[in-house]
Amino acid sequence: IDSRLPEVGTTIFTVMSALAQQHGAINLSQGFPDFDAPAELLSLLDKHTRAGHNQYPPMAGVPALREAIAAKVQALYGATYSPDTEVTVTAGATQAIFTAVAALVRPGDEVIVFAPVYDSYGPAIRLNGGTPVVSTLRQPDYRPDWDEVRRLIGPRTRMIIFNTPHNPTGTVWTAEDLQSLQALVEGTDIVIVSDEVYEHMVFDGVRHESVMRYPGLAERSFVISSFGKTYHITGWKVAYCLAPRELMAEFRKAHQFIVFTVHTPSQHALAEFMARPGWYEQLRALYQGKRDIFRQALGGSRFELLPCQGTYFQCVKYRAISDEGDVAFVQRLTREHGVAAIPVSAFYPGGDDHGVIRFCFAKSAATLGRALETLVKL
Ligand code: PMP
Ligand code: GLN
Repeated sequence: IDSRLPEVGTTIFTVMSALAQQHGAINLSQGFPDFDAPAELLSLLDKHTRAGHNQYPPMAGVPALREAIAAKVQALYGATYSPDTEVTVTAGATQAIFTAVAALVRPGDEVIVFAPVYDSYGPAIRLNGGTPVVSTLRQPDYRPDWDEVRRLIGPRTRMIIFNTPHNPTGTVWTAEDLQSLQALVEGTDIVIVSDEVYEHMVFDGVRHESVMRYPGLAERSFVISSFGKTYHITGWKVAYCLAPRELMAEFRKAHQFIVFTVHTPSQHALAEFMARPGWYEQLRALYQGKRDIFRQALGGSRFELLPCQGTYFQCVKYRAISDEGDVAFVQRLTREHGVAAIPVSAFYPGGDDHGVIRFCFAKSAATLGRALETLVKL
């Protein structure tokens, strides 16, 4: 077959989860919690399934959920989006990103991304005829290099896609970062896709800087978040996209033919559950506690901890333990020591190996305890 993605194999998340399962290893690779969603949310799903909410919802999503999303971003970011015309419920953030690219990127357009880059962005761009142009985040703290981004912007630049808090590095972009980006795109017709799926997982009092706080960015942005991360329901595949009316009209033209609409009872359940106060604060405290346990234990090991201000991922270097490449190291860690992780080279389009691996700490205290017992002895 004349493949459109010749060098793409199966995603590293699927590969490592399968390897973990095969070896009965503790799975700190693919990002998902090993604890369940809140019981009340599960009951609401049951309630709305039985209440007969089982046919197609409106194309853009259940109105009550779109209203709850608009109310949320108004309360958190002071941002005003019309539930009718500027909010769309999607089948996960992955579909929202793909749809935004499909709606706006024309053959030959360039799309700037930042490496390490989430693995779906490049294929989404290329399947739609665009060319990814990569700016590399600067080590050791993985900050964006705005001078480099300025040099990469050219007449063919159609879009910039970025992610903060950042998977896999845990970096959170600052107000200065957002201001730099705003200055760079001013006066251009560049569209932004802001992947904010970890918006509620920021630690140590750091503030999540949403593009929604920056009018010069918000006016040209698709903002994407995922209920999978926020409510421990990665398997429900429900997320959302916000954008000003004209951009959202283009998004919906593509959305209606990519997926049309999203599982109805989940949307009703989420609309009702979102009214519950205090969830985001609880979530932040939950993950900060897990991050602290993880870092404290590994701090006394031969792993070298990299910073983690947000997300539910911790990156580490392992040179004091092994000279292996990151792929070989995580495979051996899984097979011989029973703990699975992600090699960060998978997030570089050229497969650059900096000897960094990523652990997911969205796990119960018991799971983390068992994994750490092994990791501190290496
Ligand atoms: N973007 C980033 C940065 C992610 O980490 C993930 C999932 N781990 C997604 C998008 C996809 O989210 P979803 O599962 O809602 O498709
Ligand atoms: N985004 C999750 C991660 O980074 C995994 C999602 C997936 O498996 N596609 O681990």
